[in-house]
Amino acid sequence: MQRQLYFTPGPAQLYPTFEEHLKTALHEQVGSISHRSKKFKAIYQHTAEQLKELFSLPNDVAVLFTGSATEIWERVLQNCVAEESFHLVNGAFSKRFYEFATELGKRAAKQEAAFGEGFDVHAVTIPAMAELVCLTHNETSSGVSMPVADMHRLKQQHPDKLFVVDMVSSAPYPALDFSLIDSAFFSVQKAFGMPAGLGVWLVNEKCLKKSEMLKQQGFVIGTHHSLPSLWSKYQSYETPATPNVLFIYLLGKIAGDMNRKGLSVIRRETDEKAKGLYEFLQESQRYEIFVKKPAHRSATVIVANVADGSTDLIQGLSTAGFVIGSGYGSYKEKHIRIANFPAVNIDEVQQLIEKMRSPITA
Ligand SMILES: *Cc1c(COP(=O)(O)O)cnc(C)c1O
Repeated sequence: MQRQLYFTPGPAQLYPTFEEHLKTALHEQVGSISHRSKKFKAIYQHTAEQLKELFSLPNDVAVLFTGSATEIWERVLQNCVAEESFHLVNGAFSKRFYEFATELGKRAAKQEAAFGEGFDVHAVTIPAMAELVCLTHNETSSGVSMPVADMHRLKQQHPDKLFVVDMVSSAPYPALDFSLIDSAFFSVQKAFGMPAGLGVWLVNEKCLKKSEMLKQQGFVIGTHHSLPSLWSKYQSYETPATPNVLFIYLLGKIAGDMNRKGLSVIRRETDEKAKGLYEFLQESQRYEIFVKKPAHRSATVIVANVADGSTDLIQGLSTAGFVIGSGYGSYKEKHIRIANFPAVNIDEVQQLIEKMRSPITA
């Protein structure tokens, strides 16, 4: 079978060292150890330490594991909101996060931007009653990214509110300041280059205090995965339920590789690859960059309109060994989405650009 290169926005190309770490994990029989054993605690501790280093986390931020990022949408709303949350909505993922709040019986306020647009941070009005501000760093459906400086500015203007950032399709790229941002989360099948099956929740003590208060007041804050239950087990590097031990192990190894390479190098390479892709799309007659405002263009999920439709192009590229994403929802046959994650290198991005340069069809 011909090996494909995956430029899909998740699941995506696996990190180059994934296979080697998987083999080591099998050799070490990670799949059979007890999640109450010393061995597991050492694995959890190692992974937490690598992520703390990678994200420059202050000491009061915990590294917690869930089933998915979607689960964390629910958990953070249950644990940090009594009455009202506020959401910036500009695509399918930020919208779903907002809808979860309503489904959980919270009063959810939102400010919306058109699909493909970001927010003018000076025109964002956060309601006084909002307890939790929910931001999406990278709207995977449209390729819009919210500048980190804008998220920090909003928090500085509202220091009394908790801020959570969905960084599922960009982490570890955004340089979030975790002395400002209270919580952020991701799942591993996007920029960490792993198969799907693990959510990672970075969350500070202020959020824990809030959830303990809600629990005391009789709010339902989750059963097996409430913030207090995850946090108390975390104190001894354990989890409330039997977790995905294998993936916690593998994530620690990949985060370790990223630390050795250096996050500044990963960010520089991401910028360089994104620049190459956007310049190519800009110059080409066939493609049109979907996000008009350069400051709001994602470095990790690049979205373009294809003049003659994207279906045949995607099929043709796939036959040539390059798998890219189709448009989201109603843009399925018009757009392409190209993931620019750390697992693909500059050479591979260049190869993709060369393929796209030739008038490829199915
Ligand atoms: C993929 C994605 C999610 C959901 O992640 P799961 O791992 O499927 O739960 C949430 N937010 C954004 C921005 C995403 O791209």
